[in-house]
Amino acid sequence: MPEPIYLDHAATTPVREEVFAAMQPFFGPRFGNPSSVHRWGRDARTALDEARERVARCLGAFPDEIVFTSCGTEADNMALIGVWRARHGEGRPGAASTPIEHKAVLGALHQIAKEGGDERLIAVDASGRVVDESFDQQVRDDVAVCSVMWVNNEIGTLQDIGALAARAKSRGVVFHTDAVQAFGKVEVDTRATPVDLLSISGHKIGAPKGIGALFIRRGTPMEALMFGGSQDRGRRPGTENVAMAVGLACAAELAVAERAEEWNRLERLRDRFEAALLARVPDAIIHGRGAPRAPHITNVSVPGTESESLLIALDLRGIACSAGSACQSGSVNPSHVLEAIGVRTDVASAALRMSFGVLTDEAGIDRVAEVFPALAEKSRRLATA
Ligand code: PLP
Repeated sequence: MPEPIYLDHAATTPVREEVFAAMQPFFGPRFGNPSSVHRWGRDARTALDEARERVARCLGAFPDEIVFTSCGTEADNMALIGVWRARHGEGRPGAASTPIEHKAVLGALHQIAKEGGDERLIAVDASGRVVDESFDQQVRDDVAVCSVMWVNNEIGTLQDIGALAARAKSRGVVFHTDAVQAFGKVEVDTRATPVDLLSISGHKIGAPKGIGALFIRRGTPMEALMFGGSQDRGRRPGTENVAMAVGLACAAELAVAERAEEWNRLERLRDRFEAALLARVPDAIIHGRGAPRAPHITNVSVPGTESESLLIALDLRGIACSAGSACQSGSVNPSHVLEAIGVRTDVASAALRMSFGVLTDEAGIDRVAEVFPALAEKSRRLATA
């Protein structure tokens, strides 16, 4: 069997060697607790402070604007729920977002509704772009916090985050962006883009799973979600995960250094793949095509096929991709993102997300484009049998 091909980088990425090496001492001699006053503690504190400075530099932020979290999900929850709890008493019961967000944001929004908040959904168009009129209707001066993702994790659609943040802020609304799929692809600079809060996640950029960070602009009102010690100035109590913070800092620096070149490389690969696929399967639909998109995600439906059977057939050939976002695998419900952009249910049930990254090369995508048509044809026959 030929080498397996991993086309699921939007789900997770392998840990980079440099990151692994940078973390190792913290599983060995540098094991101290950063809150301890002795030399082990001071050593850990220095490493943690440096990691925070490095992540801050990657985002154009001050170190005290960075909170390390356990993952992107926690960063999203902290941003939405933390700000809403701090502000809703000021006559701002609203919390606004789009229907194509990751479940980490949608789940936080539902929690806010349970606590008495007013959930506002901003419409998106057929390619997943925010509809300006709807934004203006939903994001008014009775809204505490608004969250719009920078790059969609299922179809790759990019939003004009700078413009949306500026519009929200002109109404006194705190603006958050989930940049989990954007960081390392798009230039993320909080000095140039007026967001108040921004989430990233390590495992999408070559750090391990289980580390993320939230940028919180100085002065942003925010209640902590956890209670305990005074770590991170009370914003996130709990002994800090020094090794993971160091891993995130290392991965973030590499991602920023390689970003522009990687964007071009992935764009070439994606365009080559989509062109080859459309040449062989002319009725294939590429969701969000034509809109500004990040280059590492393509989402394709061949009408009449079923994504579940296609995923299995591809896996048997050593090709790994996904039926939507990873959190939905195992579920037969079509993706909420495709539903929100108006894709018919039967077409959404055929959707496959292929996502490119460090393990992707031309030979691999050419092979996928070659084997895919026959598998799609078989899935079509099975679905109609
Ligand atoms: N937001 C987006 C856009 C994502 O793609 C993901 C992960 O798939 C998350 C948030 C959640 O990040 P984590 O897996 O670190 O909790």
